[in-house]
Amino acid sequence: MTKPYQRPSADEPAWWFICSAGEIVLDDNNQPPHGRLDDLPLPTLDDYGVVWLGEVRERSCYLVLADYGDDAFAALGEFQSLRPMIAQHDEEMFSMASRAKQITEFISTHRFCGRCGTRMQSVDWELAMQCHTCNHRCYPRISPCIIVAIRKGNEILLARGKRHRPGLFSVLAGFVEAGETLEQTLAREVMEEAGIKVSKVQYVCSQPWPFPNSLMMGFTAEWQSGELHLDPFELEEGDWFNIHDLPETPLAGTIAHRLIETVKSQIDQESEARD
Ligand SMILES: [Zn+2]
Repeated sequence: MTKPYQRPSADEPAWWFICSAGEIVLDDNNQPPHGRLDDLPLPTLDDYGVVWLGEVRERSCYLVLADYGDDAFAALGEFQSLRPMIAQHDEEMFSMASRAKQITEFISTHRFCGRCGTRMQSVDWELAMQCHTCNHRCYPRISPCIIVAIRKGNEILLARGKRHRPGLFSVLAGFVEAGETLEQTLAREVMEEAGIKVSKVQYVCSQPWPFPNSLMMGFTAEWQSGELHLDPFELEEGDWFNIHDLPETPLAGTIAHRLIETVKSQIDQESEARD
């Protein structure tokens, strides 16, 4: 593996992920700046932490750890949330930006050892923070979540969480608790949030979701038993919706969208097979 703290050379064309306080510099096209260090209006990077993130379209991607309110990068774009990038439908770029944001969060929250309080140092051959007093070592935190699209005949269960704006409905999701398998999390969350049991649980796909550090693991399932009874502490409203008459749902590029589309194509294929 390439060392995380290698410095870019001045004539290397690269993508620049300039991050601060959960935000990233995006240009007018909602893309991170791209170009050679020599050609871009970047400040000298000697004063900044720089982390090599990987490659997108055969170009290196560098994270530059900026300070909150730093205007040295103003000529390149504006600090923004990552959310505008979802609508770009560029999964490769969005996932690299997710990585940049999560690593920024990791480094900024691990400056001191959680065990003994000593200042931590970055490890130079892997992405980790090390305490040289008590040898405690930390890696970027990833919080696993399940997300599940549940179908009942030609209907799908959609609900609106308390944090979602009115009119926007999605599938159920929840964090994995310590000691749980994904299957246990799924059964528990579905019972807690909707009061039902499901069967035919099938894994579909996953997506890193950097708000702040989730790894969403997506499933489909079928309703097995129980009356719908939504958890009033988590959910504002929700119901079974006909798959061809859905309310507003999450944008393309989100795993929720992909799971809803998966259920829709299952239902469509079944109805074609019957005709
Ligand atoms: Zn320590």
